Amino acid sequence: MGRLDETLDKFDREVDIGLPEKKHQNGRRADTRMKTYDAIVVGAGHNGLTNAAFLAKAGLDVVCVEKNDYIGGASVSRNLYKDWIYSNCSYVCSLLRPEIYRALELHKHGLQITPYGGSVQFMQNGDYYGSYHDQEVAYREMARFSRHDADAYKRYSADTMRQCRFIRDFLLSTAPDPTSFRPRDILELMHIGGKFWKMGEERMYETIRFWTMSVAEYLDEYFETDVIKAALSGSGIIGTALGIHSPGTAYVLLHHYMGDVDGNVGSWGFARGGMGSVAKAIAGAFQAAGGELRTESGVNQIIVRNGKVSGVALENGDEIQGKLVVSAMDVKRTFLNCMDEKDLPEKFHRRVKNFKIRGSSGKVNIALDGLPTFPALPEGSSLMHSDMHFIDSMERMERAYDDWKAGTWSSDPYIDMVIPTLNDPTMAPPGKHFMSCFVQYCPHKIEGRDWTSEEKEAFGKSVIDQIANYSPDFKDLILHAEIRTPQDIEAEIGITEGNIFHGELTMDQLLFNRPIPGYAQYRGPVDGLYMCGSSTHPGGGVMAAPGANAAREILADLRRPNTVPETFSDD
Ligand SMILES: Cc1cc2nc3c(=O)[nH]c(=O)nc-3n(C[C@H](O)[C@H](O)[C@H](O)COP(=O)(O)OP(=O)(O)OC[C@H]3O[C@@H](n4cnc5c(N)ncnc54)[C@H](O)[C@@H]3O)c2cc1C
Repeated sequence: MGRLDETLDKFDREVDIGLPEKKHQNGRRADTRMKTYDAIVVGAGHNGLTNAAFLAKAGLDVVCVEKNDYIGGASVSRNLYKDWIYSNCSYVCSLLRPEIYRALELHKHGLQITPYGGSVQFMQNGDYYGSYHDQEVAYREMARFSRHDADAYKRYSADTMRQCRFIRDFLLSTAPDPTSFRPRDILELMHIGGKFWKMGEERMYETIRFWTMSVAEYLDEYFETDVIKAALSGSGIIGTALGIHSPGTAYVLLHHYMGDVDGNVGSWGFARGGMGSVAKAIAGAFQAAGGELRTESGVNQIIVRNGKVSGVALENGDEIQGKLVVSAMDVKRTFLNCMDEKDLPEKFHRRVKNFKIRGSSGKVNIALDGLPTFPALPEGSSLMHSDMHFIDSMERMERAYDDWKAGTWSSDPYIDMVIPTLNDPTMAPPGKHFMSCFVQYCPHKIEGRDWTSEEKEAFGKSVIDQIANYSPDFKDLILHAEIRTPQDIEAEIGITEGNIFHGELTMDQLLFNRPIPGYAQYRGPVDGLYMCGSSTHPGGGVMAAPGANAAREILADLRRPNTVPETFSDD
């Protein structure tokens, strides 16, 4: 941009005609001296921040507004008890796209991800099934239960990785619109088709089946041992209001395998200092690029004038003007809570209302006075550093879902439990620990009504009791526990029903269908309005891809140079 353009652009943004603040006709304060931002990003979760960072890097004048007095959304670290840091929503990291990590130089802003490995399934008969990173050890452990399964694992792993590698290529790109004749959509469709075609006939059939089948059916094709299937099926239902026998859950499994840590596809890690470190580092990149972050600035309404967005009205009555508004809130909160129905096409509004976003997971975060023991494990077992689970059969997995369907929490829950302080001592005082328990299933409402505090306590107790069945000293070590139902998550983070992915990850809500067919390319139905949260492609998880992809589209619309990396295509 030339100097004159720059001056005009600055004038455009910072126009000050010296008039005093005046009251708007609808009671909001419209400050006429107020500048007009190039973009207002609503929500300082990791996707909003990512979007804001890439826009700011392109030279746009960006403000990111957040309702809470802290940032991060569901990628947050909170100091809720003495010197303990809680990752009180998301707790492990893998999906964060390495291209984004590098482009935003997140290491310079303090982000460190340390890998951890394996998982353990505690069994009711006192035994356990361990899953290890080391392939030899993993084989021997599986063969302890079934040589057939140990032999089948290699095939399972290769087939599942093939599916991962197929989808990974599309994470950092906009889903093509199959109804469009635009060259970029046609080229992208040809790219997907070409990749699919190259798989060969048999694998093409397998892929289509994989995307639509249940995780239980998928695992049945490889394994015969109940505990091994139970161990592997967990990733098919985490965060999902579906059971292991529900169609579409095989894909959800993939959603937990397609990330990587240090280039190891499928590996998971801990963010040093808790998951808030991810959002903090992205916010650092945003601010370093000149972006402005405003907390305690909840948006009440996205303002539309003459068919175009013109800014946002805050809950405190202030207005902020912007040429663009980018919402990182989920699709229901954006369009049903923060916009007027009259500003939206009728069909679009109906589809948003029918978007599936159901709460199915809770969380229990615990400060521990020391490290609990699990007598089933050999002393010094590396499995203490792994994901721990307490359900050993497919029937128990499905029964846990039955409780959710009946409108209550699982009496025998599927818990994904980790002790991050074994890897990251910064999260608790020396010798003490933080334990994160992700709990499936937990409904947004109890039999259609709000939770009572007694029910919330009882939900927490069911989790603590289940762990205590396998760890006799566990209860005595508990110093503080934070119990979170989907309703609490909704109230705090603003995610509708507390759904961790901002909407179910089923085929009808993926790729060009996410969030709404015809609106999958991050543009909203009103001029100047964009979406960049996890309700958009490729969905939830601490991945930062929706935020980045949306920024690329916005910069293209503005004819600005692209600051967003393309995928490495390393697979
Ligand atoms: C309990 C739980 C456990 C999870 N575990 C993991 C995990 O271990 N690993 C993983 O990868 N993923 C996990 N996830 C999923 C992942 O954390 C989310 O999908 C992801 O963080 C969503 O990011 P986002 O930026 O799209 O949205 P959000 O994080 O939901 O951010 C939206 C932001 O918008 C703000 N906001 C809402 N309404 C308004 C408003 N009106 N005005 C202004 N601001 C507003 C919110 O406060 C929030 O900061 C978990 C999620 C939850 C809830």
